[in-house]
Amino acid sequence: MLAAKINGTEQAMTPVIDPEACKPRAPRKLHARDQHPEDTVVRVGDVAIGGGAFVVIAGPCSVESEEQMVETAQAVRQGGGAILRGGAYKPRTSPYSFQGLGPNGLTLLGLAGKATGLPYVTELMDADDLPLLEEQADMIQIGARNIQNFSLLKKVGHSSKPVLLKRGLMTTVDELLMSAEYILDGGNQSVVLCERGIRTFETATRNTLDLSVVPVLKERTHLPVIVDPSHAVGKRRYVAPMAKAALAVGADGIMVEVHCRPEAALCDGEQSLHPSEFAELMAQLRGMAAMCGRTI
Ligand code: PEP
Ligand code: MN
Repeated sequence: MLAAKINGTEQAMTPVIDPEACKPRAPRKLHARDQHPEDTVVRVGDVAIGGGAFVVIAGPCSVESEEQMVETAQAVRQGGGAILRGGAYKPRTSPYSFQGLGPNGLTLLGLAGKATGLPYVTELMDADDLPLLEEQADMIQIGARNIQNFSLLKKVGHSSKPVLLKRGLMTTVDELLMSAEYILDGGNQSVVLCERGIRTFETATRNTLDLSVVPVLKERTHLPVIVDPSHAVGKRRYVAPMAKAALAVGADGIMVEVHCRPEAALCDGEQSLHPSEFAELMAQLRGMAAMCGRTI
């Protein structure tokens, strides 16, 4: 029996359990293609993801300075990218690595977005930062490491902002879809799934890009599916081939890391494209898209 001292006297304190709270809910399958045959189109600013166009999200791994952010955003814009990316809150393996600029990073993303007219996506790691992101960002990213942070998923499920949900390093298709289900169940229907490489025995690349997941997800869900080749391969020379492969397998877009000076980047410089490499990739993607009856 639990007891607590109230006004100096020991009193029994038994929690009252609502029997309803213990009952499982009848499962829904809000993500499932068989319940919703049409493709969902997710709007980020003026950009539609999932409507047939191939959407390119690009920008640095992390926001570092006004100059870096604006210069890189201009390269993204000039190359034909539709959405800007950049991390203000960074999930780093080591606590000693650069952790991101936090709210100042969001301000710089806003400046770069304004300078180029591009909407931006940025990662949410802590539910306490959700109000700030809801006020400032155009899309909220839930990163690979938080794919099963169910309390965070529930919170963005109650948000009106579109969510970019990245597959975890060890996440199965069923688990990825159930994480998306948490967000949909909260009422937020604007969810985009992102394959970003999974952890396998192979060490030649940072992760192993599971491109076969694209047709699998397209069959199982109506939600748009994009591919992040940068975090999958970890080396810039492998990014363009896998970005083109993503278009070939029917992804709704890609997210790539681009930095105005990758050699000086505070995070993921090795996998970040130079502006000229990004422009060249975009030209190649445009040619391929035309052949596939898609637009960029
Ligand atoms: C990112 O996109 O900034 C990122 C940290 O990626 P991931 O969560 O896929 O590792
Ligand atoms: Mn990165």
